[in-house]
Order: sequence, then structure tokens, then C-alpha cells
Amino acid sequence: MLYSEFKRKRSFVGRLPFNKDLISSIEGFCKEKGVEMAVFSVIGAVSSVTLGYFDQRQKVYVSFKKEVHLEIASCSGNISKKDGNPFVHAHIVLTDDKGNAIGGHLFSETIVFAGEFYIQELSGNAFEREYDPQTGLMLWNIRDT
Ligand code: ZN
Repeated sequence: MLYSEFKRKRSFVGRLPFNKDLISSIEGFCKEKGVEMAVFSVIGAVSSVTLGYFDQRQKVYVSFKKEVHLEIASCSGNISKKDGNPFVHAHIVLTDDKGNAIGGHLFSETIVFAGEFYIQELSGNAFEREYDPQTGLMLWNIRDT
């Protein structure tokens, strides 16, 4: 297990802007506030979504876009650094008018109809994402200490 210990810093609670991309809104907010490391959650609704699934054999993301109005039953993720900027990694579960759920890795573009967020900033050495040849993913560069 590779990990670092963090302490809680600032907590932010608020609304995401209407008709804007979910990931860009969170990344923009974090950049503006100087948040480099955080965990977050969002509930609300989207008017369209882009979901992904990582094909572990091919080591590529397969993504698809759905132009549908759905509830954000659950969305959680983290913020760390990639190329010096705040980078969001999030997964989402969305539900329709029958309570059916779809979900996966969250991509842009996902348009927010309404969204309430909670961002918990963490203090410590922010993780940076880098290419991991074993998985083909951009993983945290956590060093053994
Ligand atoms: Zn993911």
C-alpha cells in the first residue's frame, strides 16, 4: 500500500454553475482557490453525460456520450496535480425516471443542470499523476517513504 498522511484543510460547499461542464467547473474552482489536493462529492442532475470504462486488456478508455436528463445519485472523486494543474478523477452513478442506474468513469463533456458540491481540501504534499506502465493509467506518483 502506497500512501501519504494528510490533514483536513478548507471545506467548500456550494452550487455548480448551470449548463457548464462538471469536471471543468471543479478544476476551475480549485485552480482559483489554490486547491492542489482534495476529495469531493456532488449530487444533482445532468442534461448530458460522457462516461468511460477502462479496457484493461487494450489499456484504453472506451467512452460514450448520452444526451439524457439524469439524476446524479452519487459522484465522488479526488483532485490532485497533473502537469502542474488541478486534475479531477471522478466516478458517477446516474439514475433515470424509473430508477435505473448507469455509471462509470466521469469524462468531459458532462453538462450540469443542477449540482451541489462538497470539496474537502487536504494539506500535505499533493500527489502528481504520472503514466503507470503496468496499468496504462495516469496514477499517483506515491513514493515509498
Ligand atoms: Zn476512473
